[in-house]
Amino acid sequence: MRILLVEDEKKLVELVARALRAERYAVDVAEDGPGGWQLAQGYAYDLVILDLMLPGLPGGELLRRIRGRNHQVPILILTARDATLDKVANFEAGADDYLTKPFALAELLMRVKALLRRGPVARASVLRVADLEVDRLTQQVRRAGRRIELTPKEYALLEYLVTNPGRVFSRAMIIEHVWDQSFEGLTNIVDVYVRHLRGKIDDPFPVKLIRTVRGVGYGLDEGAA
Ligand code: CA
Repeated sequence: MRILLVEDEKKLVELVARALRAERYAVDVAEDGPGGWQLAQGYAYDLVILDLMLPGLPGGELLRRIRGRNHQVPILILTARDATLDKVANFEAGADDYLTKPFALAELLMRVKALLRRGPVARASVLRVADLEVDRLTQQVRRAGRRIELTPKEYALLEYLVTNPGRVFSRAMIIEHVWDQSFEGLTNIVDVYVRHLRGKIDDPFPVKLIRTVRGVGYGLDEGAA
């Protein structure tokens, strides 16, 4: 098992690297953000241990880059901060676990073992239907390689449909998942948003993906006529 450790506190690097090597892991160390990114691009790691406060490139940015390139490698964040907001932001950006400094080496090793045991996570950040790509991490949408700008609600609607290609969703199901419980408008809001979405992801392309099922609702699949 090969681990990438990105941390700029020399003492901590020494301690952690020694402890990991004693457990017979191979450990590569980068002491700044750009060095970490270079290693992450060059080798297939089984685990990344990443400090958030790094010179050269913030750890959060490095996390997003590594996750954007490799959806499966487990990432353990080390940080002095323990603000809940940071944690949420970093989990959303693809961190798997979080350890606040100072920590006991035994706890770090325990978490490392747990993450390695779990192995690569099938995160499937990018959902694909035909030539449509929806990246749930960056919330970017592309069709035939072209970037498509959606409003937050249009995106949420599309993500819901793309999650289960071929399935038909009633307007009530769509409202329940895409709007929230406080929504008390008319179900034709769904028709309105489907029309907006079609205008962006279907109308400019020869093959239509969003399907209307009369009397039932909507679905999305590979090439409806
Ligand atoms: Ca640091």
